[in-house]
Amino acid sequence: MDQFLTYSNERALREQVWKNYYSRGDNGDANDNNANIARILKLRRERVQLMGYDNFAEWRLQNRMAKTPERALALMNAVWPAAIARVKEEVADMQQVANASGKTPITIEPWDYRYYAEKVRQQKYDLDSDEVKQYLELGNLTQAMFYVAGELFNYQFSPITDGSVPVFHEDVKVWEVTDKTSGEHIGLWYLDPFARQGKRSGAWASPYRSHTTFKGKKTVLASNNSNFVKPAPGEPVLVSWDDATTFFHEFGHALHFLSSNVKYPTLNGGVRDYTEFQSQLLERWLSTDQVIQQYLKHHKTGEVIPAELVAKIKKAATFNQGFATTEYLASALMDMHFHLADPEGLDPDQFERETLAKLNMPREVVMRHRSPHFGHVFSGEGYATAYYGYMWADVLTADAAEAFEEAPGGFYDKPMAARLVEFLFAPRNSMDPAEAYRKFRGRDASIDALMRDRGFPVPEQAKKP
Ligand SMILES: [Zn+2]
Repeated sequence: MDQFLTYSNERALREQVWKNYYSRGDNGDANDNNANIARILKLRRERVQLMGYDNFAEWRLQNRMAKTPERALALMNAVWPAAIARVKEEVADMQQVANASGKTPITIEPWDYRYYAEKVRQQKYDLDSDEVKQYLELGNLTQAMFYVAGELFNYQFSPITDGSVPVFHEDVKVWEVTDKTSGEHIGLWYLDPFARQGKRSGAWASPYRSHTTFKGKKTVLASNNSNFVKPAPGEPVLVSWDDATTFFHEFGHALHFLSSNVKYPTLNGGVRDYTEFQSQLLERWLSTDQVIQQYLKHHKTGEVIPAELVAKIKKAATFNQGFATTEYLASALMDMHFHLADPEGLDPDQFERETLAKLNMPREVVMRHRSPHFGHVFSGEGYATAYYGYMWADVLTADAAEAFEEAPGGFYDKPMAARLVEFLFAPRNSMDPAEAYRKFRGRDASIDALMRDRGFPVPEQAKKP
C-alpha cells in the first residue's frame, strides 16, 4: 500500500487502493468488526470494574510509566496542535507541486499525500541513499558499536574464534564481553547478521539467558539478529542509514540485557512504555563525531563521510513529520478515548467520526490504524490503551539525548554515562522508571526535545509528560 501510494502515477488507482486499505473490517459484511469492538470494550470495562477500577485505561496504566490515562493524554494533546499545524504546511507545499505539474488542477486528497510528499522530498531534501551506503560497512559499524559500549559501559568485546562456544549456524559469530578495567566476565554476545532460508525477517535482539543472582549468579547470553544479504567472499556488506540505525537500536537492547544487575529473573521484564527507550537512545550514537570520524569511512577509499552528507541525513529526518505524527497520534488518541468512554450503546463508527471531528483531524490524513482494523488494540490486549507508548518512549529518548548534548563531554561525558548505566540500563524493572529517569536527568522529561527533533515549534508552556 505504502509503496503504491507513494509511487503510482495512476490517481484513480491510488484512490481505490487507499479506500480498500482503510476500510478493512468496515464494509458491513461478515468481516465487519464494529460490533466486535463494541463488545470488546464492554467486556474490558466489565472485567476491570469487578476489580474496582473505573475503566480499562486506569487499570492498565497503573504500572506503566505514565501511571494514569490523564498523563498519557496530556502528552498526546500537547503535541497534537503542532502536528496538525504542520500538516497544513505540508499540504500547502504539496498543493504547490501539484499546481506546478501542468496537469488538470487537483485538490490534495488523502490518497495523494504520500505521492506528492515524495515529490516534495525529492525537491527539498534529496539524498542519494546509495552514496550514503558507501560509508556504512557492517564490520566498521560493529566496531563502532563496540567503541560506544566501551566508552559508556566500560565493556570490551573480544571475538571467540576457537570454536569453544557452539553456534547454530556458521554465520553466527560470538564475542566475549568483559569489563575493561577489572576483566570480569559479563557475558557473551552473538551476532547472526545474514538472511537465510527459514530465518525470521527483520532485525531483533533476544537474550538466550538473562542476568540474575537469585540462585547463584548467571551471566548473560545476548544476541543480535539481522537479515543483511550475505556478500560474495571478499565483498563488503554496505547498509542503508536506516539499517545502520536499526543495527544500533538492536544493540541497545543487547546492552540492556548485558548491563542488568537485578537479583530476581522476572525483573528483567520490561515496562511497555519504557523498554524501547534504551534502544532508541542508543541509535543517537551513530551520528556522533567520534563514530563518524573513526568508523563511517568509505569502504574503498577510507575517506570519512562528508559533513554535508551527514547534515542532509539529519535534515531529512524532520521530513513529513506532520503526516507521520498526526496519523500515529490520531490512532493513539482514539485508543485511549475508546477505553475512557462509556461502552453502553457505543457505536464505534460514529464514535470514531465524532472523536476525530473534535480533534480537528485534517481531512487529508487518516488514522494510521482505523478502529475496525486496529489489531494492536482489538486483536490482542498488548497495546490496548498503550499505543501512546511509542511517543512516550520518543519523549524520553529525545530528552535523554539532549542531556548528553548539553553535558561538557557531550555524548561521551563520563558522569552522564555512569548515570545512564546506573539508573536507565542496569536496574531493568527493579526501579520505578519515573524515579530512575529523575535520578538520571535531575528532573522529569519534558516534551521540548521531542518537538525540536520533529521540527515542531516548542510550546511556551510545554507540558510535562
Ligand atoms: Zn526495539
